Amino acid sequence: MSTLLTSTVSELRAAVAKLRAEGKRIGLVPTMGALHAGHLSLIEVAKRHADAVVVSIFVNPAQFGPNEDFSKYPRTLEEDIQKVNKAGTALCYAPPVEDIYPPGFATEVRVTGLSDQLCGQFRPRFFPGVATVVTKLLLRVMPDITVFGEKDYQQFMIVRRLAADLDIPVTVIPGPTVREADGLAMSSRNAYLSAQERKTAAALYATLQRAAEYLKREPSHVKHGLIQAEESLKNAGFTAVDYVALHDALTLEPLETYRPPARLLAAAWLGKTRLIDNIEVL
Ligand code: AMP
Repeated sequence: MSTLLTSTVSELRAAVAKLRAEGKRIGLVPTMGALHAGHLSLIEVAKRHADAVVVSIFVNPAQFGPNEDFSKYPRTLEEDIQKVNKAGTALCYAPPVEDIYPPGFATEVRVTGLSDQLCGQFRPRFFPGVATVVTKLLLRVMPDITVFGEKDYQQFMIVRRLAADLDIPVTVIPGPTVREADGLAMSSRNAYLSAQERKTAAALYATLQRAAEYLKREPSHVKHGLIQAEESLKNAGFTAVDYVALHDALTLEPLETYRPPARLLAAAWLGKTRLIDNIEVL
């Protein structure tokens, strides 16, 4: 069966109500489109936990800062629709901006603490924008489960927190990071990279892996390990490093001494492109 396309909240609600009337368990996979194998893997995870999968495609202006890449963010709706169709998605919701933010829209969802560190320090609009749109999507679809990629680990933790805090009855399931052959985490933003930058980009994952090995050997030398990792990103050709940081995997508190469960996270620039990645340190 082919994917049903919807672009307004009323169409979406009617289509979801029909799936519910058929007794289906519903899974939601929110995306900004420009779909790649990472997104498709989240659809596969959702299919394991739900009978019908809803994929949303919305480049959310609220999560971009004034000097960020909202206008040049890749938009490939036709190809995306073919991909979700092939992946066996029941419903695709690709609304225009006015459907999400009608005139007069004035509410913001902010997850304090979790949003103020790591990427939140460098992109202050990002997490409130994400939290607001994800809350709306969850309340519009009311899915049983929703899947978020570990690629955006801080975002996954924030969504989990907001669902718990706002009593939204949904289980937030993590999807593992899908990588290119050289280890680079797939991302819609990889399309911005020049051939040279693309080669350098692989150093991000390799550096995280090396740093994780070091931290396991030298658990009390976290600061040194993180500085070394930052240096090695710069030596590899990254033009700037926002952070390389070790945090508790469950609370996201920064760790001064390594002990599991921990997550090593990094954000770094290649020219005008900001890449993020993270790995579990076990
Ligand atoms: P985006 O379209 O970049 O907002 O991402 C939509 C969802 O796909 C988020 O839950 C991301 O964490 C997830 N995602 C993005 N890249 C990957 C990847 N390489 N592997 C797994 N999930 C991903």
